[in-house]
Amino acid sequence: MTVIGVFALQGNVREHAAMLTQVGVEARPVRRPAELEQVDALVLPGGESTTMDKLARAFELFEPLQKRIADGMPVFGTCAGMIMLADEITGGIDGQETLGGLDVTVRRNAFGRQVDSFEADLEFAAFDTPYHAVFIRAPWVERVGRDVEVLSTVGSGPATGRIVAVRHDRLLATSFHPEMTGDARLHGYFAELVRSL
Ligand code: GLN
Repeated sequence: MTVIGVFALQGNVREHAAMLTQVGVEARPVRRPAELEQVDALVLPGGESTTMDKLARAFELFEPLQKRIADGMPVFGTCAGMIMLADEITGGIDGQETLGGLDVTVRRNAFGRQVDSFEADLEFAAFDTPYHAVFIRAPWVERVGRDVEVLSTVGSGPATGRIVAVRHDRLLATSFHPEMTGDARLHGYFAELVRSL
């Protein structure tokens, strides 16, 4: 059975694990390098990227994670997880580092204070009906590298056209929290990607 880990030092670990179970893969929390070695792929949940950066170092996961990403492990980064996957960020704090791997520039807290949290229906070419997305102090993608596929953008309001879901090969990232709405289609999409390898 396909085993997908959930980075479990911060964020909605249980919710992500429940969605993964729903789409037919085994979900396992990952807190230690030895646990990382045993998964086929990984979800990096939302939370606070500056804290995730520090925790990943404190638990000696930062370098093993970078190595597995470089070796082609599929990763699904959501919100702070998207920031962690980005090669480049803006609006970070001094000294903040990301794991990298995804050729994009991501702006932290991009939607601003006025709209700390909001919800929006997003179109995805892969889905028949819109995906209802929950954004919480979310980032957006400001630059995408040549090989990065834009999967969805905001469709209305002041942030129209902002990129909020991308994929590059085995790396998938969303600005929003796909574990919060009970819609497992993005976890299903990720599980398919992992199974197809
Ligand atoms: N603003 C957070 C950060 O910069 C991300 C918010 C989230 O993951 N919901 O890490």
